[in-house]
Parts: sequence; structure tokens; C-alpha cells
Amino acid sequence: MTTTGIDGSAMFRERTDQVLGGLSSTGQLKHLQTIEGPMGPRITIRDRGEVDCFCSNNYLGLANHPEVVEAGIEGLRKYGAGTASVRFICGTFQPHEHLENVIAEMLGVEASYTFVSCWTASEALFPTLCDPGDMIISDALNHACIIDAMRLATVIKKGVHKAVYQHSDMDDLRRVLSEARANADVTGVLWVVTDGVFSMEGDLGRLPEIRALCDEFGAMLVVDDSHGTGVMGETGRGTHEHWGMKGAEIDLFTGTLGKALGGGAGGYIAGSRAAIDLIIQRGRPTLFSNALPVTVACSAARAIELLMSEPERVARLRANVKAARDGIREVGFEVLESPTAICPIIVGETATAISMSNRLLDMGVFAIGFGYPVVPEGEARIRVQISAAHEPEHIERLIGALRTLKSES
Ligand SMILES: *Cc1c(COP(=O)(O)O)cnc(C)c1O
Repeated sequence: MTTTGIDGSAMFRERTDQVLGGLSSTGQLKHLQTIEGPMGPRITIRDRGEVDCFCSNNYLGLANHPEVVEAGIEGLRKYGAGTASVRFICGTFQPHEHLENVIAEMLGVEASYTFVSCWTASEALFPTLCDPGDMIISDALNHACIIDAMRLATVIKKGVHKAVYQHSDMDDLRRVLSEARANADVTGVLWVVTDGVFSMEGDLGRLPEIRALCDEFGAMLVVDDSHGTGVMGETGRGTHEHWGMKGAEIDLFTGTLGKALGGGAGGYIAGSRAAIDLIIQRGRPTLFSNALPVTVACSAARAIELLMSEPERVARLRANVKAARDGIREVGFEVLESPTAICPIIVGETATAISMSNRLLDMGVFAIGFGYPVVPEGEARIRVQISAAHEPEHIERLIGALRTLKSES
């Protein structure tokens, strides 16, 4: 017995038993599939064998592209495993600089800076660039990394405010902006932040309207285009290109290298030279955390170069997305109309989504069911994600499996 009468390890044991037991008994326990081989339209899952993959963010099929792989290997040979340092001490290799130039060029902005993930990039952005008196204004469905970065900003800098507007509701955004400007405590910069492509709905941030409101209220616009970069717009530059906007019309971008742009890992902030300089000088993740691994920097730079030199990948993705959406509707499922590569099929309860995704996997189609807390209760869904690497046969098998699922329901 402890002197306080409280046994922390027993208490914790009880906690894990309760949470995990609860998830298990209600059919909500996630099972991590182990993949034996590279990511691609067809993958090998341990104890399952080969299946068609519809749940990766490998939108352009670059994760296992020979040039992307080779660039990583060359980087590893030339520079070794890493810098063993944070960037400002002795942790910047030439490939980091090259990658950051390539990202800035792709987006049409002055500068960029990379991190080990987009999550980290978000946690660098808001706490560093916001000051007391500022307010961060966020779409209700923004990615978890934005939500947590906003919370962090308010803790690291007391007097940073935050507010949320209803998802893609421009009247509500106007209301929040007006109230912010009428608030005597909000004397600083207003920051409006939105996902470019919303990861669970597969819909688009309404960037031109948000930009206009930002201009009207003198606010800065931050777009996390993790699911849009490489996917949206004629040349895959991202959601702003889809809307006919230039990169410079977005004050700051965040994005990931762990999706369309090679799929390794890593994230970035991109925008004005001054903003990036402030991040380099003052960002806690830049000052206290290691650089992106050089293999990833080399692979990601090559992936972006492939995107820019071979825009036909983006066109193929667009055609695949249309074929998949049409097919999903044809077999009788509802899927949101949108040009993005994310096709969510809403099914209701978390357990239903999980059992449907298990049934799909039995039929050789790998698409994950998402439930609470990733999406609200009652809105669980199967999220189907399309890649430029899918051939017609893969999409036909997806539609065939969904047809069977529909006939069984
Ligand atoms: C996937 C995603 C992230 C996370 O990116 P990582 O690089 O894996 O941390 C951040 N923001 C959005 C909008 C995303 O979709």
C-alpha cells in the first residue's frame, strides 16, 4: 500500500481495462493491419494476402515511384541517416534547402520551412506567429492538428483568443469576424484558418469567399491543404488553384509530405519570407526538434518535381475520382458531390462502419470505417480514397464489392 492510499498503477490499469474493454464490447476496437510490401493500388496485408487499397492518401501513386525511392536512397548514401541536430545548430542539409525551394515554387510563394510532420508545422505556426490580442478563427471541421495548435497558442501566449465558425458557413464566419472586431480584448491580428480539403467530408474550403471576408476585415488567411496539394487544380498545386487563385493570395499554407507528395512523412509552412524567418527564429519545434530525415527530404523533393513535370497524373486522378463517385452512386450509396479524391459513404453508427469495412476487406477491398471520435456520433462512414495509380479494374472491383454490400444490407 502506498502512503497516500492511492495506487497510481492500479488506477491506470483499471482505466485502460475500462476504455479498451468498452471499445471491444461495442465493436469499436481498431485493428492495425500490417502491410508486407510497398504502398500502391494493390497491397499485401499480413494474414490476408493481396487486396485493392482504397484508404491510403497516396493520391498520385508516388509513394513507391522508382524515382522517389531512388532519390531517398541516394540521399541516404550521400548524407547518412540524418543531421543528429536541430536545424539552427547544425541540422540543415542541402536537400532541406532544396526541398524548401521546391515547395515554395510549387505553391508560388516566397519561402517555406519543413518539419517532421504537418502536425508539428501547425504547432509551430500559431504559437509562434500569434501574439496576445490576436484571435484565431477556425472552421468547425478543421483537422485535429489545427484545433490542438490553437489550444497550444492560447496556453503558450496568454491573451491569444480563439473562435470557431460553423463548417464552411460564410455568414457565420462574417459574424465571428464582426464580433472579434467589436471585442475590446481583440486588438491584434485576426487569423482565419481552414482546411483546403476537409479530410472526413471530402469537401472544399470556400477559399475565394473566405479570402474576400479576410480582406474586408483585415484578417490573415491560413490554409492547411494537406489533402489538396497534388490533388486539386489543373496542375495539382492545390485547392487555391481549383478556385482559380494564386498561391500568393493565401497568406500562409501548411501541408504534409506524407500524402500525395511522396507519402513518406513531413510537413511544411509556406508563405512570405518574413513569416518563415520568424518561424526559424522563434518556433519551438524549429528550435528544439530535429530536422526532417534527409531520405524523406530527397524523396519528397523528387515527388514534387514529378508532380510539376507530369501533370497528367493529376488528370488521371481526376478521371478516376469521377469514375469512382459515379460507380458508388450507381450501386445505391450516397456520396458527397465534390471534385476531391475523398469519397465518404455515410452509414451511421461506428460499429456499422467497422463491420462494413471488415466485410469489404473479406472481399479484397481495403477501405476504412471511421467513427466517433474521428467524426461525430451517428455520422460514421466508410472513407474511400482514390489514387491516380488505380487502374479501371481496381475501381471496378471496388464498385463490385460495394454492390454486394448493398445487396446484403
Ligand atoms: C493528414 C493531415 C495532417 C497531418 O499531416 P502529418 O504530416 O501526417 O502530420 C494535417 N492537416 C490536415 C488537414 C491533414 O489532412
